[in-house]
Amino acid sequence: MAISDHVDFPAFIEGVKRRNPGQSEFVQAVQEVAEDIFDFIQDKEQYHHYQILRRIAEPDRVVSFRVCWEDDKGNIRVQRGWRVQNNNSIGPYKGGIRFHPSVTESVLKFLAFEQTFKNALTGLPMGGGKGGANFNPKGKSDHEVMRFCQSFMTELYRHVGADVDVPAGDIGVGGREIGYMFGQYKRITNQFTGVLTGKGLEYGGSLIRTEATGYGAVYFLMNMLKEKGQDLVGKAVVISGSGNVATHAAEKVVQLGGRVMTLSDSQGFIHDPDGIDQEKIDWVKTHKTRRRGRIAEYVETFTGATFHEGKTPWGVPCDVALPCATQNELLGEDARTLVANGCMAVAEGANMPTNLEGVHVFKDAKILFAPGKAANAGGVAVSGLEMSQNSGRISWKEAELQQLLLDIMEGIHSRCLEYGRRGDYVDYVKGANIAGFKKVADAMLAYGVV
Ligand code: GLU
Repeated sequence: MAISDHVDFPAFIEGVKRRNPGQSEFVQAVQEVAEDIFDFIQDKEQYHHYQILRRIAEPDRVVSFRVCWEDDKGNIRVQRGWRVQNNNSIGPYKGGIRFHPSVTESVLKFLAFEQTFKNALTGLPMGGGKGGANFNPKGKSDHEVMRFCQSFMTELYRHVGADVDVPAGDIGVGGREIGYMFGQYKRITNQFTGVLTGKGLEYGGSLIRTEATGYGAVYFLMNMLKEKGQDLVGKAVVISGSGNVATHAAEKVVQLGGRVMTLSDSQGFIHDPDGIDQEKIDWVKTHKTRRRGRIAEYVETFTGATFHEGKTPWGVPCDVALPCATQNELLGEDARTLVANGCMAVAEGANMPTNLEGVHVFKDAKILFAPGKAANAGGVAVSGLEMSQNSGRISWKEAELQQLLLDIMEGIHSRCLEYGRRGDYVDYVKGANIAGFKKVADAMLAYGVV
């Protein structure tokens, strides 16, 4: 046996920290996965010998580049862009692009790492990647956003392709940004291919892609509740965020008989004791996406609601919590409050919204807890279906896609059960980590040392 074969968990994490100095989000994501994988592989010599976890936690490559653009006043602005290609063992790199001032290499490496397992869980042939820039689209004019997207793609186009790496949207990147980037890719390469997903329906996009992440998270929640003989009817649901994921999760909760109590943005949350119904959700969608407004303004239109500045919604008593905003928005103390208030289920619509301490609180309390890599996989799953439609130069009907999304979320749930059931309790974190890992790991074993 080679000397490096059997490092233990603490030594492995120390190594990850040493090799990725200052990258706390990346270390956090690796640690959460490694806790479960070490358990799983302890008696599986091949995974140790071939250093599979060590290799998955080392991105295939990280491309970093300068993005220059000119604002409306004629100032030259300089941003940093990245594409992290984590692992393409089971398909082309796939994952969103995030434009937000908080974007760093660490954040994108954590997201690309998570994406690798998430994409494997969908059962579709997609590897893991993520990209973005520390650009803030808030407060920018359409033309500023267009110039930024064009400049970003002028470098990115060399690294992506329909069979190489297929980006999509994420925080700060929606239909408008995808349109500008696709237009620039097409202009540079003179090729109309499925190089991006989340495209407009007129130019190769898929029906239900917009709804898929939020709807998928609630479908996953329904599968968890069903396992316990329960459903959403009459349940109070606390949701964070007010973007694409949060509003579509809210919509599906309402359709299935639940009561949505809260939504939020980076400035605070609104609490509507009358419940946020479809009409109010439609108002939020228009207000946030078309008018690019703030959630605080909700209370001016719906006067029964209150706005809580600078706060997250986890103190509002509920049966179910859906964190749909961003990473590390739900901390250990929030998790303890939710459990104390009788919350029975949490499904992560965002990526890693619960910190490690919070995850341990939920696991110790044995409430239903679905990690993002399982619960929010509906978005990338429909992206995978968009890729298939683009390759076949066809468009599937809405009913077919809705059914496929339901089936994929049910499939992910079953995969989690397979590896996460412990008597009466299902450890969905463990189930998702092991099921996602196993598929990628077995493909890597087939390739030998590459
Ligand atoms: N950004 C989304 C995610 O975190 C979607 C990625 C995609 O569709 O490629 O999964």
